[in-house]
Amino acid sequence: MIIQSVNPFNGEVIATHEAHTHELVAHKIQQTHTAWLTWRNSNAEDRSGLLHKLAAILQERKQELAKLMALEMGKPVKQGASEIEKCAAVCTYYAENAARFLTEQLVETDATKSYITFEPIGVVLAVMPWNFPFWQVFRFIAPALAAGNCGVLKHASNVPGCALAIEEMVVQAGFPPHVFQTLLAGSNMVDAMIENPLIKAVTLTGSTQAGIKVAQKAGSVLKKTVLELGGSDAYLILEDADLEHAATTCTDSRLINSGQSCIAAKRFIVVAEVAEKFTQLMLDKMKTKRMGDPLSADTEVGPQARQDLRDELHKQVQASIAAGAKCILGGTIPNGERNALYPPTLLINVTKGMPAFDEELFGPVAAIITVKDEEEAISAANDSIFGLGAAVFTKDMQRGERIAATRLEAGSCFVNSLVKSDPRLPFGGIKQSGYGRELGMFGIHEFVNIKTVFVK
Ligand code: NDP
Repeated sequence: MIIQSVNPFNGEVIATHEAHTHELVAHKIQQTHTAWLTWRNSNAEDRSGLLHKLAAILQERKQELAKLMALEMGKPVKQGASEIEKCAAVCTYYAENAARFLTEQLVETDATKSYITFEPIGVVLAVMPWNFPFWQVFRFIAPALAAGNCGVLKHASNVPGCALAIEEMVVQAGFPPHVFQTLLAGSNMVDAMIENPLIKAVTLTGSTQAGIKVAQKAGSVLKKTVLELGGSDAYLILEDADLEHAATTCTDSRLINSGQSCIAAKRFIVVAEVAEKFTQLMLDKMKTKRMGDPLSADTEVGPQARQDLRDELHKQVQASIAAGAKCILGGTIPNGERNALYPPTLLINVTKGMPAFDEELFGPVAAIITVKDEEEAISAANDSIFGLGAAVFTKDMQRGERIAATRLEAGSCFVNSLVKSDPRLPFGGIKQSGYGRELGMFGIHEFVNIKTVFVK
């Protein structure tokens, strides 16, 4: 089997790799397990030093890696450079905090001494997507290695160059051989990887479909999974919102990574009183965004990562229009047979029953849903199979906080801000957006044996 990188801006094949065979995959997993037998006993200070080195390498290679992302999956270079900085930040964060998160916790009981320790579990398989080809992987690698685990990566088939660059940087940083390895393989080989007894757990970021498949397989052999899946984040614009700020933030959130982010704002639920004004502001802002070559420094919206993904998105837009939505910006495939471009698109009059309301639209398409009042806004926001992130815009901070903390059904709820991940805060979803948490203290505790020790 062949794994190819194709430039989504012009359809050119950039690189072709021979996929690893089942035998080679099993061999590499064995190597990583062997490396773990030593790595598990490494001390926290050494691990921290290596993570600091990895952070420094990421910073040094930032421009080169941003270019690689632009070529393989179309991310505008400026956004690519920020992504690499965030990867460096997560390495530094766990370098500085992992030892504290893993410190034994004494608990008073009837024992002479009872406490909790956090022990590494072994080799964790990471099945990762193309949309943030470095960030999604580093937010796994940093806590995994810091906790004394090892990792193997089955990256998305369209970003093999990024997958190999990650392995190369781990080696360059001086980590012992094989503690982290890339497996060049298609999704048809994931079941065999999960079945391998040396794989102790699986983390997947990607579509709900892929998550279900991986969770089923892992369940059949009783291995833990962490799933970070799709989302259809609702942003509530209440009648007392600062509309200028809300429209700017909503546009930025919708268009980040050319619309291909699990926590991009997707449904804009606007109270009727301000719907016309907010729509006009958003239209004005979306119109100004420059679409084009991701290698160009002033491009704000690059191509979609693959043509098939772009075509699927266009079908969802057309089906929403056929069901009664009105398209007031974009909505057409630009000329040029070999690119995967899709323009910033604004749909209004979106209601339940349309793909733009019910499904995840993974591209630069904003859906405006008009509601009567706060209560209707909350119920529309929660009326989704997804529960990844949500945001509320209001000048009344107490009102915003109350809605975010107690009413919205999502893993991360923000007030007057776009939803973003941060190494210091746990990140993950509920409902069909998945389960488990990455980042922060909760992230590093997902793949450790939380062991009780009781001495009578
Ligand atoms: P997928 O979810 O299919 O791919 C993500 C990863 O899962 C890839 O490594 C993929 O491998 C792997 N995978 C896919 N199917 C299986 C399976 N049955 N068993 C094991 N592994 C599997 O994303 P797509 O690229 O197909 O994108 C489709 C849609 O998914 C998007 O339009 C978007 O809605 C959503 N998505 C969400 C993401 C998020 O961040 N939440 C990220 C990416 C996509 P391979 O590449 O070899 O198929």
